Amino acid sequence: MTNKIFEHTDYGQLSEITADVCIIGSGCGGATVAHRLAQAGIDVVILEKGGYYPASTFDNRELNQAAKVDAERALSTDTNASTMLTYGELVGGTSVHYWADSYRTPADRLALWESQYGITGHSAEKLAPIFADIEKIHHIQEAEPFRYNKMNQLFKEAVEALGWGGHPMLQARSGCSGSGHCMQGCAIDAKQSQLVTHIPASLALGTRIYADLKADDFVFEGHRVTQLKASVIDRARNRPNGKTITVKAKHFVVAAGGFNTPAFLLNQPRLRDALPALGKHFGFNPCTYAHGLFDEPIIMWRNIPAAYGVDGFRLPRFDAKGQYIEGGYLLVPDQIQPGLMAYTIPGFNDGAAEWMEKMTHVGGAIGWLDDHPDELGEMKVDGNGVRQIHYPYGPTTQKMLRDLMKKAAIVNFKAGARKVMLGDLKRTTLNSVDEIDRIDAIEIKPGSLTLVAPHPFGGCRMGTDPKTSVTDSSHRVHGIDNLFVADPSVFPTGPSVDPSVSIMAFSYIAAEHIANAMGKKTAPLQNT
Ligand SMILES: Cc1cc2nc3c(=O)[nH]c(=O)nc-3n(C[C@H](O)[C@H](O)[C@H](O)COP(=O)(O)OP(=O)(O)OC[C@H]3O[C@@H](n4cnc5c(N)ncnc54)[C@H](O)[C@@H]3O)c2cc1C
Repeated sequence: MTNKIFEHTDYGQLSEITADVCIIGSGCGGATVAHRLAQAGIDVVILEKGGYYPASTFDNRELNQAAKVDAERALSTDTNASTMLTYGELVGGTSVHYWADSYRTPADRLALWESQYGITGHSAEKLAPIFADIEKIHHIQEAEPFRYNKMNQLFKEAVEALGWGGHPMLQARSGCSGSGHCMQGCAIDAKQSQLVTHIPASLALGTRIYADLKADDFVFEGHRVTQLKASVIDRARNRPNGKTITVKAKHFVVAAGGFNTPAFLLNQPRLRDALPALGKHFGFNPCTYAHGLFDEPIIMWRNIPAAYGVDGFRLPRFDAKGQYIEGGYLLVPDQIQPGLMAYTIPGFNDGAAEWMEKMTHVGGAIGWLDDHPDELGEMKVDGNGVRQIHYPYGPTTQKMLRDLMKKAAIVNFKAGARKVMLGDLKRTTLNSVDEIDRIDAIEIKPGSLTLVAPHPFGGCRMGTDPKTSVTDSSHRVHGIDNLFVADPSVFPTGPSVDPSVSIMAFSYIAAEHIANAMGKKTAPLQNT
């Protein structure tokens, strides 16, 4: 046991846990709800199926850290095996893995969710002080100039020269050493993951965290969940060790993350039968990249990942006939470590090795699509309860991906790259910006590109009608009085920006409703 974080070796004879509120998952969603409820004097437990890896367990060796931080060793994909699902499974969740770019949910997206999907109580006005609170707690600010690594500098200059809409990126960091290991876990707790922010703050208020404990099945009585059955995970094998623990609580919150919450709920037969929208409207911000080879050393794996970004293409543009023109994504400088680069470049002795040999001079750009709302996917579970993600890569999505590849190549050349390699399996390589039209010949379909999905959402869409949504605007699952969802599964579409701040802000609202249901009030915000 460390502080009040229990681990698989601590469970001994423990067979039952009781609390006012039981939260499943310790990421941005779960840890935020825990903190807000603990501040209100509510007795909270968090169940986390992953292990506890504090900063002291990180040694700045890429593969050692990735083994702790990457869920399923980053080998999980959609059903086409074309998109790598990236997320974290450990105390602190994916925030231990993330880059810490911190965007407020754009007001246009909140307005869309209200007008088109019937969401109430999450307006830009309501969320503004909550965003400010989150920004204060997570030390969110623009990166200072010395935080820009070479790729960040070149990218910024290129974007300015191209006249694209660029901006310094807000970052959740404090006391950064510039080691560049953000994505594998910060060894000095400078990155403001939940391990550094809401988790210690909740522990100090009495929250108990049970790591290596996987939530399995709810027991329902009438319109309430009364118990949760959970399995202890043997960390070395990442498998249940046969021991089970029952959790009894007045309220339950599912915050298992976008890749797990819909699957967890689909594995509860009562909910699967009652809620036809469960698992539907699922998206994950498909992400592609372009590597550039430069004359000068880039060393992209040092300092912070993306100090500067392009949001001028955030919203897609269509012509008067509704034909796609461009956009629908964010574009930023890339930062990958050597191991991940080797893993994502297809092939070996047929040219791929050359890029690895010259890795000190490789930089690049990466972007993620704001999934088109008419071309979303679906999460299902198979007969063994195993998650299956079906994502169609529809016609507009394909156009958006092609446009993103072009913009990523253009910015690399403008930044001085001598050649650019795209993220298709044929490793299409351009020798100058004049060859940009060759991107039109790249086959864009499942299985033809190396795609990554870091930002899942949907599958438990918030709304008013139980036939088309899973929770109401108070985050409560339709038809179950004491069951709430607090993570991006409730978003009706993607937030169109990196989601961590949106997830936390929505979780403040979830906590407000849970506290109210217990006759309590959440604490005043720090800035009000
Ligand atoms: C490489 C990478 C970089 C990113 N960079 C950024 C960025 O710069 N800015 C940004 O805003 N976002 C970024 N993101 C996305 C962001 O990190 C996530 O969207 C966010 O952290 C998700 O929070 P969450 O609480 O929804 O889920 P998670 O953080 O995934 O937490 C869910 C937790 O629930 C646990 N769990 C699941 N099932 C069970 C179960 N049955 N029982 C018990 N526990 C369970 C999981 O182990 C996990 O720890 C990035 C993501 C990745 C992968």
